[in-house]
Amino acid sequence: MAKLYFKYGTMDASKSADLLMTAHKYENQGKNIICLRSSLDTRTKKDFIESRALTYKHSCFCFDKDTNLFDFINNKNNKKINCILIDEAQFLTKEQVIQLTEIVDFLNIPVICYGLKNSYIKGQLFEGSNALLYFADSIQEIKSVCHFCDNKATMNLRIKNGSPIFDSDTGGTVVIGDTNESEDYFISTCRKHYFKPFD
Ligand SMILES: [Zn+2]
Repeated sequence: MAKLYFKYGTMDASKSADLLMTAHKYENQGKNIICLRSSLDTRTKKDFIESRALTYKHSCFCFDKDTNLFDFINNKNNKKINCILIDEAQFLTKEQVIQLTEIVDFLNIPVICYGLKNSYIKGQLFEGSNALLYFADSIQEIKSVCHFCDNKATMNLRIKNGSPIFDSDTGGTVVIGDTNESEDYFISTCRKHYFKPFD
């Protein structure tokens, strides 16, 4: 029986690298996969999933918040699909996560979602992550280490003009930023250093 998987980690936890290695293993066995990612993520080239950790990249389809993912996959189901891999799954809507459960339960195709769990906003999950934690059959953490110490990183800290930001300045959880130091960027931290990064 197929399952819905949620593999979550902080920024820079090599989530896309994990996805690409999984894609490579399936394709090495001659299996057919489909990769998807949100069009909200503008950091990488459209229609490709890339990772800073690997030179290998994979073509993908982009979805936005209005894409019906069940219909999208059902229309492609003339050739057997062995697995669906989704990057930046935090940007899924709750409705889209329910569509993924329908792909798993009614089309019997496994779906593996990779994404962030926590937004930078204190105490707030992303809509997609919230729904995946609720609906996924399997939940797995991809671990990484705090920017400041050797504890496990569990938080995504936003630094803007040198100061930590804990509240939304855009009215939502979605801010596209990179992990390279700049005016507005993100780092992965433990909980202690999320609240007190520069102490
Ligand atoms: Zn720390």
